[in-house]
Amino acid sequence: MLFDYSNIQLQYITPTWLPGTIQAAMLRLDMLHGAVSGNKWFKLQCNVAAARAVGKDNIVTFGGAYSNHLAATAAACQLLGIRCTAVVRGEAAPVLSHTLQLAQQQGMQLHFVTREVYRDKDRIDWESRFPGAYFVPEGGHNAAGAEGCEEVLSIKDVSDFTHIICAVGTGTTLAGLINSAKPTQQLRGYVVLKGATYLAHEVQVLLKNKELPHWELVHEHHGGGYAKVTPELIAGMNHFYEETKIPLDVVYTGKLVMGFKKEVESGIFPAGSRVLLIHSGGLQGNLSLKPGILLY
Ligand SMILES: *Cc1c(COP(=O)(O)O)cnc(C)c1O
Repeated sequence: MLFDYSNIQLQYITPTWLPGTIQAAMLRLDMLHGAVSGNKWFKLQCNVAAARAVGKDNIVTFGGAYSNHLAATAAACQLLGIRCTAVVRGEAAPVLSHTLQLAQQQGMQLHFVTREVYRDKDRIDWESRFPGAYFVPEGGHNAAGAEGCEEVLSIKDVSDFTHIICAVGTGTTLAGLINSAKPTQQLRGYVVLKGATYLAHEVQVLLKNKELPHWELVHEHHGGGYAKVTPELIAGMNHFYEETKIPLDVVYTGKLVMGFKKEVESGIFPAGSRVLLIHSGGLQGNLSLKPGILLY
C-alpha cells in the first residue's frame, strides 16, 4: 500500500459552541500524507489502478491554478512513478501559483488553455492531443473516484456515528460515503459553491442501487460562494484552531465547520447525535492567503 492509513486520526472535538448533548469527531484525512492529503487520494486511487490495469502510464487531468486535485495528483504520480499532465484553466501567469510551481517540480507537465477552451473541455478531443493517456476528470469526479472514497469509512470504526458530514465540491466524496455508510446513518454534504442545484443529480448518478442511507445537500453555508473568504470565516477557523488544534482550509473544511456550527446552533442535530466530520484535507490551498491571516 502506498500510504499508511494509521496516520489518520479520529479526533473528538469539544469546541465551546458544541453542546454537551452532541458528540463530534473529525476523521483527519488531512494527516494521510504531507502532499497527498485528504479526499483527493481516495478519489485518485481507483483511477490510478484503472490506468495501470490497461497499461497506461500517463495520467491527464484538469484543474485551476490552486487546485487541490492537481496538487495531490502531481504528488501521488511522483510517488507512484507515473507520468502526469494537467490541463490548467487560464493562461499561464507570469509567476505561477504555489500549487502549480510545486506540481511542476514534482514532474507534472502543465498544459495551459484559455478559460473559454477550459469551459468547453468536455467537447474537446483530448484523446488526440494526448494519445494513449488515461483521463481523470476535474476534481477526480467519476465513478472510480466515488468508489475510492468508499474506503474512507473503513479506516476507523465509525459505525456508531449517527451523522456523517463533509464539504461538497463535485459531490464525488459524498457519493462514496453514501455508498459505504450504514443505512441508519444520515449524511449531510455542505456545498461550497453558490446555487449549485445541479449537484443533487451529480451525486445521484454516482449512487449504487441498494438500500441507501438518508442524505441531504446543505446549500446555505457557502459563505458567499466558491473560494470566497470573509473575515467571519477566518475568525471562525482561527477560533476552531485555538480550541481543537485542527487546521482547516478556507475553501472546503472551513466552510464545513462553520456550516456545522450554524446548524448545531439552529438545532438541526438532536440531542444524542454523534457527528463524524470528514476532514478532507486541502490545506495547501491556504498558501494563497496573505501570511499571518491564519494562526497556523
Ligand atoms: C476537492 C475537495 C473537496 C470536495 O470534494 P468533492 O468530492 O469534489 O465533493 C472537499 N474538501 C477538500 C479539502 C477538497 O480539496
